[in-house]
Amino acid sequence: MDTEFLIVGGGIGGGVLAAMLGKSGRRVVVLERNPGRTPIVRPEVLWPSTVEILTPLLSPAALAEAMVPVKGLRVMRSGAPLVELTSQTIAASGVQPWSTDPGATRSKLLESGAFEVRHGVEAVEVLKEGARIAGIRARETGSGREFDLRARWTVGDDGARSTVREACAIGMNTRLFPVEFLCFGFDWPASLPAGCPHAFLNPAAGRSSLLVLGALPFPGGRGAGLVAALGARLKEGPELEAEGREFLHGDPRIADLTRGKVFPRDFVRVKRPWGHAERYGTDGAVLIGDAIHPVSPAGGQGANMSVHDARVLAELFLSNHTGPVEEYERRRRPANERSISITRRVSDAVEGKGIARVARRFARWLPRLVNLPIVQQRLLREASRAFVE
Ligand SMILES: Cc1cc2nc3c(=O)[nH]c(=O)nc-3n(C[C@H](O)[C@H](O)[C@H](O)COP(=O)(O)OP(=O)(O)OC[C@H]3O[C@@H](n4cnc5c(N)ncnc54)[C@H](O)[C@@H]3O)c2cc1C
Repeated sequence: MDTEFLIVGGGIGGGVLAAMLGKSGRRVVVLERNPGRTPIVRPEVLWPSTVEILTPLLSPAALAEAMVPVKGLRVMRSGAPLVELTSQTIAASGVQPWSTDPGATRSKLLESGAFEVRHGVEAVEVLKEGARIAGIRARETGSGREFDLRARWTVGDDGARSTVREACAIGMNTRLFPVEFLCFGFDWPASLPAGCPHAFLNPAAGRSSLLVLGALPFPGGRGAGLVAALGARLKEGPELEAEGREFLHGDPRIADLTRGKVFPRDFVRVKRPWGHAERYGTDGAVLIGDAIHPVSPAGGQGANMSVHDARVLAELFLSNHTGPVEEYERRRRPANERSISITRRVSDAVEGKGIARVARRFARWLPRLVNLPIVQQRLLREASRAFVE
């Protein structure tokens, strides 16, 4: 046996699980296919219960480098605020969202020193002893050298296209989220209030594939943004470039955010499949995070779900539970299903399906409704608790 726990993937869930087990003296090895610290260019909101889990695992300096509190939110249309969430409403809701730099949270967790990390190594297959999963056939991404690593428990935190899940023959039907994201990093401009995320609606959204640009703060005067685009309408080449020019140069504040960038060349394009695996594990192997429940960014759920999966699994392993896989799935599946339903509702609304078809008729009343502090507080509470069991 090379290790007690072999975690495939150093995402936020894998990092949290490794740190919780490692700090309790258990032997953990994490395999991360990226050769080093990879900057992840996109926004990520973490909710208070997730930050509570991260706090004892990271030093105060690491936390300060990874996240800033959200002080409000403005949705802008044609240069004027359409929806505004104030710091008073956030305080009254009792829910403080945190805007985080996903690259920083993951690398700080992996650098915590409580476990071994092997960068530039990927899982290619699982090893079996009879029906039980007994470790991983791994490959160094640089040299191509393959070798075996044996473990008492193999944990797959290897994302939506999980090798571990496929090798364990665990099925997962996915749908493609109808909105794609073109992500970018930027220096937070003086024209926007510090710590306050902004969303700019595209006035030409009726005929353009580009719907909205979102900008969220990072620590250190940086920020991450995304342009949300309707996948079915998204064009390539000169047409997309022209749509980008019209949207990104139409408002001086958007131009400030994207200054010096060529659209779409300098943006990272992300498509998101979403779904829920039929099982969370098997004898000797268990899965967490996107590997079993990839979701869209709607409601800021995915990373939070992954951290809460990791916490429950760590608790079960540390208490030497006799059936940790079954108990983990029993505790986590209903909460994860609630989070996935946020993606389902938004996906249906965009595609005009189900009840969303009726709701769309009232779309012009939506900003008034969403401007009510009582509605905002309810939405904050729902998003911040959906993934908690
Ligand atoms: C645009 C965008 C915005 C988002 N916003 C939010 C938000 O606001 N709030 C939120 O909670 N979530 C958000 N999410 C979702 C969130 O980023 C994911 O749900 C989260 O990263 C999942 O974490 P994870 O630990 O499950 O795995 P991942 O982050 O997917 O990490 C998987 C890791 O495994 C590694 N890996 C993959 N295959 C292998 C292999 N075979 N061998 C070794 N290593 C491997 C990868 O390199 C990667 O490091 C957003 C996602 C996107 C795309």
